[in-house]
Amino acid sequence: MGNSDELRDIQEMNDSGVDSTPEIVSVSTKHPKDDALQARIEQLAPILRDVLKTLGEDPTRAGLQKTPERWAEALLTYTEGSAIDPEEHLNVIFKLEDDDYPVGSEDMIMVDNIAFTSTCEHHIAPFRGVAHVAYIPNPTSKIVTGLSKISRVVTLFSRRLQVQERMTQQIARAIDKHLKPMGVIVVVQAVHFCMIQRGVEQQSSSTITTARRGIFVSKPQMETRFLDYLRTRKESNDNGVLA
Ligand SMILES: [Zn+2]
Repeated sequence: MGNSDELRDIQEMNDSGVDSTPEIVSVSTKHPKDDALQARIEQLAPILRDVLKTLGEDPTRAGLQKTPERWAEALLTYTEGSAIDPEEHLNVIFKLEDDDYPVGSEDMIMVDNIAFTSTCEHHIAPFRGVAHVAYIPNPTSKIVTGLSKISRVVTLFSRRLQVQERMTQQIARAIDKHLKPMGVIVVVQAVHFCMIQRGVEQQSSSTITTARRGIFVSKPQMETRFLDYLRTRKESNDNGVLA
């Protein structure tokens, strides 16, 4: 545990110097309702009003009068990650000292239970769940990123029209590209409301997708270690240690 505490300290020091944004980010706060957003809402609203009409609704009834504008704004929020490059957050990096990350240690940095809500591009319905991410730093460069950057990358990739399989791969690829780690693994577990609402899926059913790069492919016991850590985390949670 000493190592991870130390890593957190380093990260906090780094964050205080480089980036003071809070850990949990509402992407919306970065984009106030400016003129461009208002223009897009006004462009979308009549179209959505027509959709309501086509559904047999009366868009003039009290409950629906402002729905097209609200719906338009909601849709733009769900997809605002499309205009942002999530990978820019991974440019915030720092280097571990030789003594803190000995060659051959193959030690893992893991951020688990990153909650997200995304939008299925096939049905424009939400899917929500958690992502677990781990990587093993490059033993030569010893480059790591801030822990909060990992969750931010997950959040930003989720704010797009998505499919879970692609989102999982995008997260892994972004970390692989920017940190050039020895390996990275991403596991995403989600429930899809398009399936639940349409009755295709049982309420309790979820979808799990994985993406692995580097040593997580070539050395299967690394994935076993990752899954052991996940289990440890779950047990700590069940025992109230992390709750
Ligand atoms: Zn769907």
